[in-house]
Amino acid sequence: MSIKVFTGRVYTQFKPIKTVECLIVSSGRVVYAGSIDVCECVCRNTVCEEIDIRGVALPGFVDAHIHMDALGVNLNTIDLRDVGSIDDVKKLLKIYGRKTIGGWIIGRGWSQERFAEKRLITRCDIDESITELPVLLVRVCGHLGTVNSKAIELLKLTEVFRNNPNMDAVDGIVKEEVLEYVWRKIDIDVDTYKRLLNDAQRHLLRYGITSVGFLSAPVNIVPILISMNLEDTLRVRIHLYLDGVYGSILKLAGFRRGFGDEFLRFMGIKIFIDGSLGARTALLTSPYSDDPDNYGVERMPGDLLARILSEARDNDIDVALHAIGDKALDIALSSIWETLSNNHTRIEHASIVRDDQLDRLRGLRVAIQPYFVISDFWIVDRVGAERARYVYRIRSLVDRDIAVGFSTDAPVEEVDPWKTIYAAVTRGAFDGIELARYTYSESVDVREALHLYTKGSSRVLLRTDIGCLEPGCLADINVVDRDPLELDIQEIKRVRTLRTFVGGMESLF
Ligand SMILES: [Zn+2]
Repeated sequence: MSIKVFTGRVYTQFKPIKTVECLIVSSGRVVYAGSIDVCECVCRNTVCEEIDIRGVALPGFVDAHIHMDALGVNLNTIDLRDVGSIDDVKKLLKIYGRKTIGGWIIGRGWSQERFAEKRLITRCDIDESITELPVLLVRVCGHLGTVNSKAIELLKLTEVFRNNPNMDAVDGIVKEEVLEYVWRKIDIDVDTYKRLLNDAQRHLLRYGITSVGFLSAPVNIVPILISMNLEDTLRVRIHLYLDGVYGSILKLAGFRRGFGDEFLRFMGIKIFIDGSLGARTALLTSPYSDDPDNYGVERMPGDLLARILSEARDNDIDVALHAIGDKALDIALSSIWETLSNNHTRIEHASIVRDDQLDRLRGLRVAIQPYFVISDFWIVDRVGAERARYVYRIRSLVDRDIAVGFSTDAPVEEVDPWKTIYAAVTRGAFDGIELARYTYSESVDVREALHLYTKGSSRVLLRTDIGCLEPGCLADINVVDRDPLELDIQEIKRVRTLRTFVGGMESLF
């Protein structure tokens, strides 16, 4: 049995804050956290492998809500969001043309508004760079894309969509159902899936994230994750919430939450109650301030939700409830308390929380995404000044002992935890974010943010042995280049991970 000794500056937890100068790790867990003298004494009497931290050691971050499959896909597509000309698109295709998914080169996020040429990308543009592989470049809206000649030929698009106005074979423009057809035909086989998941976990480890909640996982990914686990290739601890449709609970009978091991745990399902504020589909009690007839969309009626929650509770399955608007949160809270399934539910987003809802959230778990504060810079127009103070609350939740965990919803936001912490602390005050004026009192300090990103998120995932480096905790260690608690908040985004250890083993990224 190998014993590892980590020496240097170590934060074992943030609330209350605790630092030590040495950790002893055995069988993947911390067995001692304390003074260097004790470690030296142990190592005089037994064989130790000593690791000099040369930086600052923190507990590995726990991202309570991400989409690992989509993150893997995203890492393998060409980001075209900031590209200013079709000429630059062609250059990028030449540089990144070897990155494929299912044999396809995929790019996303372009817009003709941003191109110097002020026109759509065409089949001929792509053909100039890539002819031997099929290419799909999707516009920022996701409803239109351009394909090259190879793609048209491979999928026989001209024949399949003869006379369809959404298929323009001359320019290679595909829209709506034709675009969906192309997406469906990109075959992500088992090996590709494994590669994408591997890319996702390497990316997470690069930022010192060692555990995640993997939300809305498609059912077909379960055997792939199980086989990766059997092959011993999982390096990030995954807590799985399957894409939940009613009835799937019964199909999952036999699975209980927590089922699994240290790297792969089944937790439950995820259910949508409403949509998003960006698309004005989040469900609100009063209409959108910039769309006075619109209250958003209810995707799950309360009575059906109550039935699902009682069934999940009886089967010991956890349910993650997507609730963004305050009306969606009302539906969630009524169903939870009516069925007493408070120990079997967690709430995702809770983007708008009225004062009267705070007390009903007491004792519940909530996964929030602080970076939305900065990304959703338009939010005050959408919900109005009156409601703005209810948006993306953190401090009000924490003060009521609601179990708050931090997350990024990656690839919706970047996985970089320091950006999330920056947003939670500043609320966009230095970035011209209007919401900061209304909700500055919802900010937390760096220490609290670190706590919420480690212990806080682990509470959301029902774990007590991750997000900490106290004796008994798994030795998931994030070694960073500077002490985040001694930095000016403006500098915090510069913190970088030097090394990541999972269960005491170094994970290369
Ligand atoms: Zn999500």
